[in-house]
Amino acid sequence: MPQIRKILVANRGEIALRIMRTAREMGIATVAVFSEADRTSPHVRYADEAVCIGAAASSESYLNMDKILKVCADLGVDAIHPGYGFLSENAGFARKVREAGLIFIGPSPESIEVMGSKLAAKHAASKYNIPMVPGTPSAIDDRDEAKRIAGDIGYPILIKASAGGGGKGMRVVENEGEFDEQMGRAVSEAQAAFGDGSVFIEKYITSPKHIEIQVLGDHQGNIIHLFERECSIQRRHQKVVEEAPSISITPEIREEMGRCAVDVARSCNYYGAGTVEFIMDENRNFYFLEMNTRLQVEHPVTEMITGVDLVQEMILIAGGEPLGIVQDDLQIRGHAIEIRVYAEDAANHFLPDIGTLHTYVKPDGNGVRVDDGFEQGMDIPIYYDPMIAKLISYGQDRQTAIRKMVRAIDEYQISGVQTTLPFCRFVMQHEAFVNGSFDTNFVGRHFAPDVLSTKTEDETAALAALVSALLGDTLSESKPVQNEVVTMNASKWQGRRFKTH
Ligand code: ADP
Ligand code: ADP
Ligand code: MG
Repeated sequence: MPQIRKILVANRGEIALRIMRTAREMGIATVAVFSEADRTSPHVRYADEAVCIGAAASSESYLNMDKILKVCADLGVDAIHPGYGFLSENAGFARKVREAGLIFIGPSPESIEVMGSKLAAKHAASKYNIPMVPGTPSAIDDRDEAKRIAGDIGYPILIKASAGGGGKGMRVVENEGEFDEQMGRAVSEAQAAFGDGSVFIEKYITSPKHIEIQVLGDHQGNIIHLFERECSIQRRHQKVVEEAPSISITPEIREEMGRCAVDVARSCNYYGAGTVEFIMDENRNFYFLEMNTRLQVEHPVTEMITGVDLVQEMILIAGGEPLGIVQDDLQIRGHAIEIRVYAEDAANHFLPDIGTLHTYVKPDGNGVRVDDGFEQGMDIPIYYDPMIAKLISYGQDRQTAIRKMVRAIDEYQISGVQTTLPFCRFVMQHEAFVNGSFDTNFVGRHFAPDVLSTKTEDETAALAALVSALLGDTLSESKPVQNEVVTMNASKWQGRRFKTH
């Protein structure tokens, strides 16, 4: 394998910067590609070389394989890191990269192909003893047969696109009466979104937690896992808050889930970094959902609790190095939480809120990491995912990580667009989040736009509680959970918001 001396990052924004930073630490030169919409982006300036590859639309730029490969040839690039989204899970691209004599920093095209289809993934994983959600084992071509299976499984059921991703292509069917209509919609949506109308059925787990395991595999066949991430706080089946470790699993479940994840990876001869996703029901039965064959958005929380730089591992593996870590070397240290700061209006169905970042001042300090790709004055383009930043907090335990997150959210100053920051602050202080009794229905069950506007009342109450505490009264001991929330609010006031302004 040729030595990696120059990496092209086929991506944009925070993840492009994230990857280039590690490359630089490793003494590897970096090449950015960018669209006309991203001319002024930090990732373009950070790179050693940068090339504009086309118009704003992804199909003209970040998805344009031939242009990207041409830049590699022109600039003497050895390897391509695809980041997440865009071409990262495109087996055809991985193959073209290989054919061009370049290194794809990721798994083989064959692994991507198998795991890119949720059905093929389940089929491959079925060689091992891995729990699966009850459902149809292959794409549905006979609706009557599918309806019979749905009846056997019991409603509600979920129709999923085999090629689905990013939370798209899923429909819940509450009863047999809705079956035909929802099936018709699911097939046409899947066809439109993924160019593949194959759908299948899974039992709909009504109160699940989404828990996933980070894995790393090398070309020598070694595979390890780096524990779990809890990603149950979602809107539109897509994550907004992630943390590691999960508050909901025992060491025994962690070990068993880890074993299953390693087996899933083994089932497709996996190398590189990957994530095996599971859902877990109220009785802590867990089931394999899918494998994402790339670096995940929420990978930083794993880095914080393990001390492993996942991008560095990906690059070393791609260069042919055997893993430098064995399973027993790894230990969970502390607790990390990530929130995704999207330019979205949580009060308006989390719809994208595109505009200019008139103010953009990010938080800092002990236990705070910001992975972002924007600066004050920049526009959030409409062409791409509206994520502005990932805010990550780290503390010795979960409560500390939550407190640091609330403090960091309060320091974050963004104006010009609505963001998910107020929503995430609400999550951090919600009793169900604090005590761990949340699942993927958190948003539907606990969130309504008015909870953001009543924040002031809560804060007034918290201030009153703090003042009374300072005056010598004790805070109520009778409601421990509420007390917890009050304590966190109180720390906000100790943050001198009112003393300095
Ligand atoms: P993760 O799976 O890393 O937790 P997401 O599900 O949000 O994060 O996906 C990561 C990125 O990839 C997002 O920008 C998302 O919009 C995009 N994405 C993922 N899968 C697809 C897909 N099949 N088609 C289009 N975009 C996708
Ligand atoms: P994607 O490729 O879009 O990420 P996933 O299969 O990973 O698709 O599912 C995304 C999310 O949808 C999960 O995190 C979970 O919240 C929900 N989900 C998926 N399958 C089920 C199921 N069988 N029952 C309940 N919720 C599910
Ligand atoms: Mg998923």
